[in-house]
Amino acid sequence: MYDGIVQELIDEFGRLPGIGPKSAQRITFHILQTPDFDVARLGHLLAEVRDKVRFCEVCGNVSEQDRCVICRDPRRSLSVICVVEDAKDVSAIERTREFRGLYHVLGGAISPIGGIGPDDLRITQLMQRLADGTVQEVILATNPNLEGEATATYLSRLLRSLEITVTRLASGLPVGGDLEYADEVTLGRAFEGRRTV
Ligand SMILES: [Zn+2]
Repeated sequence: MYDGIVQELIDEFGRLPGIGPKSAQRITFHILQTPDFDVARLGHLLAEVRDKVRFCEVCGNVSEQDRCVICRDPRRSLSVICVVEDAKDVSAIERTREFRGLYHVLGGAISPIGGIGPDDLRITQLMQRLADGTVQEVILATNPNLEGEATATYLSRLLRSLEITVTRLASGLPVGGDLEYADEVTLGRAFEGRRTV
């Protein structure tokens, strides 16, 4: 335990996802001990990111405008939509450079234990995007864990009534893991080897 504000800052960092007490302490002391650490810039960025960044009105990806850079890009194919759980997954898939279509971010996955049902996800918005017949293929790229599989199964049943090819990423992704942690090569291969469900 440290005195006052130092401990407060450690506790605050410790509340962030993926940061344990040791990392929180390391970050705090880095800020304290690095003479040229730009506190003002960090503070400014934190305030601005909350102020400026919102979610794309089409796909749900993070964006500084109504539509994200991917939805605004005229070179992207309008006939394929890749469905992911989080905006973080969009950047993971973009890094593979295997995919030139559009995305749809669900905002999570079906989880009976977590109390998250289909109505809590952006599924209605997905169905609306598929309604006009432009989209020929939907790739289900939810995480290869229990919740992700449940979500993919739910969506594949829902999409069965539409004249759309529904594919799921190939196996080879670490089971139980998150897409965002898969390396680019593995994720890229999973894309190439996707199968119809
Ligand atoms: Zn978008």
